[in-house]
Amino acid sequence: MGDTSLERRYTPLVILLLVAALVATLGLWAADRSGTGLVETRHTDKASGEKYHWKMITTWPKNFPGLGMAAENFADLVEEMSDGRLTVHVYGAGELVPAMEVFDAVSQGVVDAGHGAAYYWKGKVPSAVFFTSIPFGLNAQEMNGWLHYGGGLELWQEAYAPYNLVPMAGGSTGVQMAGWFNKEINSIDDLKGLKMRIPGLAGEVFAAAGGTAVTIPGGELYTSIQTGVIDALEWVGPYNDQAFGFQEVARYYYYPGWHEPGSILEFVVNKDSLEALPDDLQAIVRTASRAANQDMLDEYTARNNAALQSLVDEHGVQLRRLPDDVLLALWKGTQVALRNLVESDPMAAKVYASYRKFYRGVRNYHHISEQAYINARDEAMGDDEF
Ligand code: CA
Repeated sequence: MGDTSLERRYTPLVILLLVAALVATLGLWAADRSGTGLVETRHTDKASGEKYHWKMITTWPKNFPGLGMAAENFADLVEEMSDGRLTVHVYGAGELVPAMEVFDAVSQGVVDAGHGAAYYWKGKVPSAVFFTSIPFGLNAQEMNGWLHYGGGLELWQEAYAPYNLVPMAGGSTGVQMAGWFNKEINSIDDLKGLKMRIPGLAGEVFAAAGGTAVTIPGGELYTSIQTGVIDALEWVGPYNDQAFGFQEVARYYYYPGWHEPGSILEFVVNKDSLEALPDDLQAIVRTASRAANQDMLDEYTARNNAALQSLVDEHGVQLRRLPDDVLLALWKGTQVALRNLVESDPMAAKVYASYRKFYRGVRNYHHISEQAYINARDEAMGDDEF
């Protein structure tokens, strides 16, 4: 995982030696097994052009902008990279199974793969909240660093192993918006009695502040707030929220997204389906998920500002920042919710230990890198145009 010059210098040699060893081993193995038929099977995996067809279910409406497109991007990439040897048919929420049954359906092998968010499954896997986002937690860049170079993905795999599932990062949203409300939030008491769609650990923080937290799939949110089933909701950010039309049913749009500072979505793959693939197709699946993960962040980064301007200028949305004392109260609540979580679940405690160690290091470094740069940019430029 490291990238020292020493490793770079020796990597080609090491690869060469490994390849030579592999060829020698396979040669001996083939000589040993000739006539058993096993050799032929092994060598014709790719040459035979065997085709695999996967079904992928999602927790979002089909072809929905933003979150919904990650599964489509993944399917397109897999098909193109494998030259059609692996195809993935994507089904939207409710087409094969309801949104909130994706985890179970993939776990049981009803379908091969799913796309959603780990924190939807916290009732089964309490530690899953860490693999989406936790309040006041890592941002997008930091989450991707923890997952792919800080041990996070290995822990995620360990948490899902009992369910015969292999998780992969499947989308990165960046800092979300705090959500849509039909009344102003001027103090923490204004959350009392509110019924809000807010999943994950943040839901518990919200409930502790006197609200009622519910997890409702994206496709049902518009109707839920329009008909008064819920009073408030959070979804993602301006680009995705505008596509859902929340500006038509809610007046105040709050930031910052204290509750989801860097959410990661997930691809879950049934372990048997994955292992049935030849190695090169497995590599394609992992690479396509990594590409779709980054692609989402790129798209939101490119589109969020224009969507926000449109919401404010054309739709009359009232943009508000959560007051500092509300954010402080939510942070206090987060500390309690985190303590309850790690005390009640050994796997959550194990994941938290890794997450916290990474958090401390990256926060320290970002003080003098990302944060220092953004502060310096604002201070130096003021109202000047670039
Ligand atoms: Ca959200």
